[in-house]
Amino acid sequence: MIRVENLRHVYKTSTGDKIALDGVNLTINDGEFIAIIGTNGSGKSTLAKHFNALLLPTSGKVFVDGLDTSDAENLWNVRKNVGMVFQNPDSEIVAAIVEDDVAFGLENLGIAPEKIRERVDLALDSVNMNDYKLFAPSKLSGGQKQRIAIAGVIAMQTKVIVLDEPTAMLDPQGRREILSLVKKLHTQGKTIIYITHFMEEASQAQKVFVMERGKILRSGTPREIFTNVAEMKRLGFDVPVAAELAERLRKKFKLPKNILTADELAEALQK
Ligand code: ADP
Ligand code: MG
Repeated sequence: MIRVENLRHVYKTSTGDKIALDGVNLTINDGEFIAIIGTNGSGKSTLAKHFNALLLPTSGKVFVDGLDTSDAENLWNVRKNVGMVFQNPDSEIVAAIVEDDVAFGLENLGIAPEKIRERVDLALDSVNMNDYKLFAPSKLSGGQKQRIAIAGVIAMQTKVIVLDEPTAMLDPQGRREILSLVKKLHTQGKTIIYITHFMEEASQAQKVFVMERGKILRSGTPREIFTNVAEMKRLGFDVPVAAELAERLRKKFKLPKNILTADELAEALQK
């Protein structure tokens, strides 16, 4: 379980203090699939980096399985529990061969070579990239590179996987592959924290946190968040296409209130 209590994060810059997080409170339970959305600069990446102690609170607390991330003694166990995948696949690749890249984190853990090989093979299988294990990462597509980055986290066997806009630089096909992989990892029991600016992706999560100016502005199920079309628009967000279309069609047709998906809209229109 991850618990964030009254978290503030202030960046010190040459031009003064920048308040990036301003009193964030949230709880994420084991096995949950959480999406975090928010406009640019709202603090999503800063928050993400607190989940595995890449950043530490200016004030407030972050607990991972009860371990206070501010306590240096806990760093190791926090990092063992929470893996991170970032937006830019190129900045995450560290080795010249795919399998070495996936093994990188494990080598640092001091795991026996044959065990490492086993874990790397399993991880590459689960992201469907075993055929590429001797490739140079530079020869791969953006989506394939992200799958390699995710394999690296899978190999570490962390309970929690935080993904910070992993699909932002991918084409639609690559995006679909990453999302379906993330959903598979969730069904296998991983806790998923998925930051995205694609509302269709966020609507696949169990719960959505909406960030603005360093605060959590709203939280709820995707249905609670996204079928409130007028409010989301007012806040400057898109909503999934089906929810928006349903809202417009309501001006002419009598439709149920909480339509979220294309299937639900099609069914309502048939009736
Ligand atoms: P998001 O991921 O939602 O776009 P960020 O967490 O990256 O937001 O940034 C939140 C705020 O903190 C922004 O105003 C951003 O400019 C600022 N910020 C982020 N990183 C730094 C940094 N290293 N130094 C100074 N300010 C930063
Ligand atoms: Mg960001």
